[in-house]
Amino acid sequence: MPRPPKWRRISSWPGALFFKPRAVPLSRLAINVITMDEYEALRLADVEGLDQARAAEMMGVSRATFGRILECAHRKVAEALVMGKAIQIEGGNYRIDGIAVFSCVDCGRTWSVPSGGGRPSGCPNCGSKNFSRTPYQPVPPVTGAPRVRPGMGPGRRRRGWRGGRRP
Ligand SMILES: [Zn+2]
Repeated sequence: MPRPPKWRRISSWPGALFFKPRAVPLSRLAINVITMDEYEALRLADVEGLDQARAAEMMGVSRATFGRILECAHRKVAEALVMGKAIQIEGGNYRIDGIAVFSCVDCGRTWSVPSGGGRPSGCPNCGSKNFSRTPYQPVPPVTGAPRVRPGMGPGRRRRGWRGGRRP
């Protein structure tokens, strides 16, 4: 009997949700799926440089759990680099805390700012003022879903986090 998933707190949004080796057709690529909580672990440990105890506290998980999340994320990123796989950031047990997520209509960029800070002046990528706050809801993971899904293209990614909460 699997334990119920525990929400992990994330307080940033990826700069992009899909990364692909150049000049390889998507149909022939294997994709490593990095969950949002794994992305957040990478950011806190490797970009912000926090020690694991502090990073675990920020995500609301134990230090041991944080270590496992980070290790899994490292392996997926390293494997993608070594084997020429694409990386997709999607899913996981998480809730967004303390940020507002915006999407640019003109270039498709999605980004986050601290919540309560008002509307951004423009898209950080193209400067457009044609953007809107994403009606984001976290999506519970599909139990038993494979972590690696060859052939899963970026065009389908929005469904995961725009469709609202599943029952
Ligand atoms: Zn833009």
